[in-house]
Amino acid sequence: MKLDDYNQMSNIPTKWFGHNYYYYREIGSTNHVAKELDEMYEPEGTVIIAEQQTEGEGRLGRKWLSQGEGLWFSVILRPKRDSADAPQITLLAAVAVAEAIKNKTNLTPGIKWPNDILINGRKVCGILTELNANEDDYSIILGIGINVNLSLEDLGDQLQDTATSLSLELGSNMNRMELLKEVLIQLEEWYLKWQKSGFKPIRQAWKNHNITIGEKVMISSLQEKFHGEALDIDDTGALILRDDEGEMKNFNFGEVSLRNKE
Ligand code: ADP
Repeated sequence: MKLDDYNQMSNIPTKWFGHNYYYYREIGSTNHVAKELDEMYEPEGTVIIAEQQTEGEGRLGRKWLSQGEGLWFSVILRPKRDSADAPQITLLAAVAVAEAIKNKTNLTPGIKWPNDILINGRKVCGILTELNANEDDYSIILGIGINVNLSLEDLGDQLQDTATSLSLELGSNMNRMELLKEVLIQLEEWYLKWQKSGFKPIRQAWKNHNITIGEKVMISSLQEKFHGEALDIDDTGALILRDDEGEMKNFNFGEVSLRNKE
């Protein structure tokens, strides 16, 4: 089943998300094309999706493997909130994807701070939000990659130990279009909630799904590593860590990575 079924997408029960839908068989990166379409004033909620990305991007310049039957897509957002709050969309998107997976499967997805989705300890979804600013306003390009029907072969030697797919966890393939629609429904719902009420409801939902709080973790920036226990997230989405010396530290997720300690 391909993702170019425009009829199915036209029935999506959302106000905006997914109504404008760009499908590509192969593309460099959906975030890259989304940025260009954003600059051509395509409407908020426009979805750019590809069967394959040849240059899928992760955070901090890392690569995102995008081959096999996955969902590799980007959504153009134009938040009415202050741009300082925009990083919260990263956590909001993780909540939406976790709820969509939960609604469409019997799996239990967990969110690893800030926005990776893991199932049974392996990564099944990555999210990359990018700011596209111009003189007087800004857009957010929200990129989401979900390993839906990927085989072990698709994941390859490099990712087999740390990553998984929904089909590997379920033991059977699932309908990608159905999952995509559910993700867009959840995204729109949480996005509207955030526009209206801010981060508070997102923080609570994020905490309900998270698998980081209470864990011993290592946080690394380009220069330094910090070891300690993840205590909470604050009302901006920053992680509160009590380091091994007992000192409290807050981390914004722009520049750091988190690993669980053995
Ligand atoms: P982080 O986990 O630090 O937030 P990113 O979200 O930037 O990392 O994702 C990039 C990393 O995810 C890569 O370095 C690689 O280890 C891993 N990765 C790449 N592609 C996939 C994939 N399709 N499924 C699961 N993990 C992946």
